[in-house]
Amino acid sequence: SASYPHLLFGNPTHSQRDLGQPDNYLIEKKQFALSYNRTNGIPNWVSWQLNKDWLGEAPRQNDFRPDPDLPDAWSVVTGRDYGGSGFDRGHLVPSEDRGDSINDNSSTFVMTNIIPMSPDNNRGPWEKLESYSRRLVNQGKELYIIAGGDGEGGTGSRGRKTRLGRGKVLVPARLWKIVVVMESSPGTAGLGAINPDTRVIAVAIPNRMGIANADWRDFRISVDALEDALGVDFLSNLPSKLQYVLEKRIDKR
Ligand code: MN
Ligand code: MN
Repeated sequence: SASYPHLLFGNPTHSQRDLGQPDNYLIEKKQFALSYNRTNGIPNWVSWQLNKDWLGEAPRQNDFRPDPDLPDAWSVVTGRDYGGSGFDRGHLVPSEDRGDSINDNSSTFVMTNIIPMSPDNNRGPWEKLESYSRRLVNQGKELYIIAGGDGEGGTGSRGRKTRLGRGKVLVPARLWKIVVVMESSPGTAGLGAINPDTRVIAVAIPNRMGIANADWRDFRISVDALEDALGVDFLSNLPSKLQYVLEKRIDKR
């Protein structure tokens, strides 16, 4: 629905809810939006707004399940496809980013929001950036976040794999994320609140072991570098002059 805020900054793969594009299939929920890749069994990206309205004390539901918004005829990925693989069922929208109600927390456990992540990343720098993002929100910021995987083949606790679940699920080589930090919430000014000083954090973290204690800040890159690697245009709803300034800068705070 156009009333949801999650694609404010754009739809980087021009994803549509079109059965003829099963590897770039758009799903828009109240809680987040995503582009699903049927061939890879994971999302291309998931995009979401984060402000205080989404946070709360709702308990973690842990109800991993196929996404009911996928077409019925498509084969589904389940939590069992990850079982014994040495990779975590890694959330893109974190469970803790949807603590405002049991239903919203549960929404993050659909398998279209999950990617195979090395335990050392999922519980290390990836988690630390998630926690840092929520600290920004608790300081009054409003965030627009998009995240996904890139490349093929990662290393979990049982060694290197390119696919899980008898080939159904791709293991990406790295996980990337972009966080746009709006100074006030609610960001009622929308894109008009964005200026050349707006903070944009981008990271690409390798999907491997041995990084459990690494700082997420060490994996920062520019949005332009991510655009080049993925062949997509992020923040495409911003004027091109603002994209030019914000996308070439590497966050340094
Ligand atoms: Mn660019
Ligand atoms: Mn761009």
